[in-house]
Amino acid sequence: MQASHVFHRQLLQDMPVAVSGQGITITDSQGKTYLDASGGAAVSCLGHGHPDVIAAMHQQLDQLAYAHTSFFTTAVAEELADTLIDTAPAGMSNVYFVSGGSEAVEAALKMARQYFVEIGQPQREHFIARRQSYHGNTLGALAVGGNAWRREQFKPLLIEVEHVSPCYEYRDKHADETAEQYGQRLVAELEATIERLGGDKVIAFVAETVGGATAGVLTPVPGYFKGVRELCDRHGILLILDEVMCGMGRTGTLHACEQEGVVPDLLTIAKGLGGGYQPIGAVLAQSRIVETFRKGSGLFQHGHTYLGHAVACAAALAVQRVIQRDGLLAQVRERGAQLQALFQESFGDHPHVGDVRGRGLFWGIELVADRASKQWFDPELKLHARIKRAAMAEGLMCYPAGGSVDGRCGDHILLAPPFISTPGELAQIVHRLRQAIDKTLAGVPRP
Ligand code: PMP
Repeated sequence: MQASHVFHRQLLQDMPVAVSGQGITITDSQGKTYLDASGGAAVSCLGHGHPDVIAAMHQQLDQLAYAHTSFFTTAVAEELADTLIDTAPAGMSNVYFVSGGSEAVEAALKMARQYFVEIGQPQREHFIARRQSYHGNTLGALAVGGNAWRREQFKPLLIEVEHVSPCYEYRDKHADETAEQYGQRLVAELEATIERLGGDKVIAFVAETVGGATAGVLTPVPGYFKGVRELCDRHGILLILDEVMCGMGRTGTLHACEQEGVVPDLLTIAKGLGGGYQPIGAVLAQSRIVETFRKGSGLFQHGHTYLGHAVACAAALAVQRVIQRDGLLAQVRERGAQLQALFQESFGDHPHVGDVRGRGLFWGIELVADRASKQWFDPELKLHARIKRAAMAEGLMCYPAGGSVDGRCGDHILLAPPFISTPGELAQIVHRLRQAIDKTLAGVPRP
């Protein structure tokens, strides 16, 4: 094969060339088709080639592609912000547009810090986040992220962040405690960390409402986030919820935090916001934060060239309108229940599927060498990556996670099919996944 000048392809020479996409299917240059069961990386909520989104982008391109935000706002950015605030958790008043998830997290971290500088609390300089989390690959986002493997070689460049335990019920809940008691134990751990650092020294606690890219979907236990919210309030600490992956309808409500009954101070979104039609992300901010900036310095000291890009905003607005018009949030809940039943049928007694967990159309499968002891496979086997390759051979895209050097990430497969997936397509996805898992395991030594 001819050498590729595309950097990421240099490292993966056998990567197929995607040439077209329609519905939940992508076709490569050899004419082979793949079911996009992961929506890329939980991005393609409307699948590929959606005519309404494409038409909206064309229309915006004909009118105006780009105007820098230091000179202009645009009607489409205003309309998208109005739509997002109309449907946002209580108290959110403004939207800060960026071009993706890491940028959204960077902006939220800096917004939180500047907020405390503006209100005369510059001594607040710590962030607390969780292990086995993922918040992006830029340096600030990587620093709050808790994926040891991704952080390792960049450690000297990262701001110091305290990491506490994630909410990982399958592995960490003690047999003699209820889910609620487990949640309280995690909140107590966070409280001890805050007290050690000093409650008036902490800027924010940062967490994915439902964990995604690192440990194959981690759903919070009941009451956990309510406890976290109360704790943050007691110490005047901001709560930043990162819903870049789990947000924008993926879990069956527009924002995953709605299901927890908590409202964050800052909420990051991306992926499903533009559904992959354009790169776009955003930070939704509480009015008291925005008001502080308005009355104080008058500006957020941050910014990128492509903020609020008009075509990106047009794509996102169209995606959000289709979701509302076609009642897709209800459909996510319904299809999610169907998918859960299919998993139960296919993996309920599978000897190497330890846990299947998720909400809506956001699911993680945790692979284990032994179900009783929950022992993982040897990380050196890179089982998650092998399953991904086997799935591609079966014509299925699934998103692998695993292989942390701290030995705590195990092997996981994440599924995030488009909201428009039919029951028949979901059945095909689960069938092909079972094939890929079983074919991979057949070539792997068992303990
Ligand atoms: N936060 C979360 C929760 C994510 O899942 C991701 C991407 N997987 C990011 C941030 C970073 O987003 P991006 O890759 O668009 O920079």
